[in-house]
Amino acid sequence: MSTGVVDAGLIDELTGIVGTAHVLEDPEMTAGYSIDWTRRFAGTTPLVIRPSDTAETAAVMSVLATAGVPVVPQGGNTGLVGGSVPLAGEAVLSMRRLNECEPVDELASQVTLGAGVTLAGAQAHVASSGLSVGVDLAARDSATIGGMVATNAGGINVLRYGAMRAQVVGIEAVLADGTVVSHLAGLEKDNTGYDFGSLLAGSEGTLGVITRVRLRLHPTQPERATALLAFETAADAVSAAAALRRSVASLHALEAVFERAMTLVSRHLGVAPPVGSLGGDSHRGPDGGGAWLIAEAAARTDPSDELGAAVEELADLVVDAAVALDPTSRQRLWAFRENVTEAISAAGIPHKLDVTLPAARLAEFVDGVPDVIRTADPDAQPLLFGHLGDGNVHVNVLGPDGVEPSEEVDDAVLRYVAELGGSISAEHGIGTAKLSQLHLNRSEAELAAFGAIKRALDPAGLLNPNVLLP
Ligand SMILES: Cc1cc2nc3c(=O)[nH]c(=O)nc-3n(C[C@H](O)[C@H](O)[C@H](O)COP(=O)(O)OP(=O)(O)OC[C@H]3O[C@@H](n4cnc5c(N)ncnc54)[C@H](O)[C@@H]3O)c2cc1C
Repeated sequence: MSTGVVDAGLIDELTGIVGTAHVLEDPEMTAGYSIDWTRRFAGTTPLVIRPSDTAETAAVMSVLATAGVPVVPQGGNTGLVGGSVPLAGEAVLSMRRLNECEPVDELASQVTLGAGVTLAGAQAHVASSGLSVGVDLAARDSATIGGMVATNAGGINVLRYGAMRAQVVGIEAVLADGTVVSHLAGLEKDNTGYDFGSLLAGSEGTLGVITRVRLRLHPTQPERATALLAFETAADAVSAAAALRRSVASLHALEAVFERAMTLVSRHLGVAPPVGSLGGDSHRGPDGGGAWLIAEAAARTDPSDELGAAVEELADLVVDAAVALDPTSRQRLWAFRENVTEAISAAGIPHKLDVTLPAARLAEFVDGVPDVIRTADPDAQPLLFGHLGDGNVHVNVLGPDGVEPSEEVDDAVLRYVAELGGSISAEHGIGTAKLSQLHLNRSEAELAAFGAIKRALDPAGLLNPNVLLP
């Protein structure tokens, strides 16, 4: 990797583009940009540059390319795989000032947003048009639209609208040498060659710096019904999830929390779940086999009858169910899912392994992975939850007293996932955390093609050089 030289001449050039207030060198000022949300990944940087628009971003990239300085693009810094922070002394390009929201195009149900607009900002901006952003996730107050495209973020509504890549109808980005590529017309049908939006979705800052995104929007579904369902076993929860997907046309989210994670989040919230029992039956084994599903239906008219009827049909599988209709009661149920990540973070520094399994192997994985983890590290504590409707399980692992578990845990879990035919990254990406395991899912031929694309767009290897590609 080129390291380039950060000297007074380079700083002068950069301050000439973005202003002195937006080139940070003082370690106290750059510290927050150098450590990730989990606190697991921390590095240092000689400088943070904060452009305000595409032209400034292009000029900055051109100057960095000439100087040979590698750079990590950064949005809200909520990424969970160590891809958003400078772990090898790179410069940081913070995109948060690109926060312009253009007027909603109601005729097309689309909007063009700056890469630094937060998801919550985007949601608020489009709400008065009766439209919604298709992707939603708990980090919405900080995660940016550019970062969400760069990671192809998923979240809680993928089963209805798809992940971030499916929302992108236009993109503008700056390549490593400062060239601007812009294709923002947002035509629904446009077969005029390669699709930069698709290519940059999931590229994790390695192919280009996203500056503006045109998003497809969806009609808001204001009427909601939410059910919290308790199950004795993971297999019952998986069967119920499949049945709900088949029978509830307005199904909007289908999330799971497994027993250890439910015990932790309940302690964190200071309240037991309203249905199901914790740490109960000894036949559930040391991890407890209990599972909880949150199923939410959303429609233009009240979907509670549709959801209620579907839940009744699950009588053989469900131990107990609570249904909520008003926002406060629904939020009370959602708290057991939305606060899991925070509860785990409060308990220590976890290893976060975000994986997808084929539906037929999902229950086997949930039941089998605790043993795989303990074989790799007898002191490790597995905590499982996730987007069950998409086959996506977040396997979080804590060491004793909140310290990190051994690195062997990651390898053992990801090998087990690959053995069962799953993906080692469902939605968080590869970052630096899973670099050494990418070969489990991608053939040599695929990795060679990835390398060829990278070299074509970034021949000097300056854009996030330690991320995604081994
Ligand atoms: C509490 C919590 C809940 C979460 N829930 C989910 C979830 O349900 N689903 C999910 O998918 N993720 C989830 N995440 C992870 C995270 O929020 C997403 O990965 C999000 O998309 C990252 O956006 P960001 O702006 O914070 O990007 P960052 O963390 O800043 O960066 C992430 C990656 O994108 C690159 N990048 C950032 N901005 C740009 C840009 N403008 N151009 C090019 N590259 C760029 C970075 O280099 C890095 O590789 C969660 C995180 C937290 C903390």
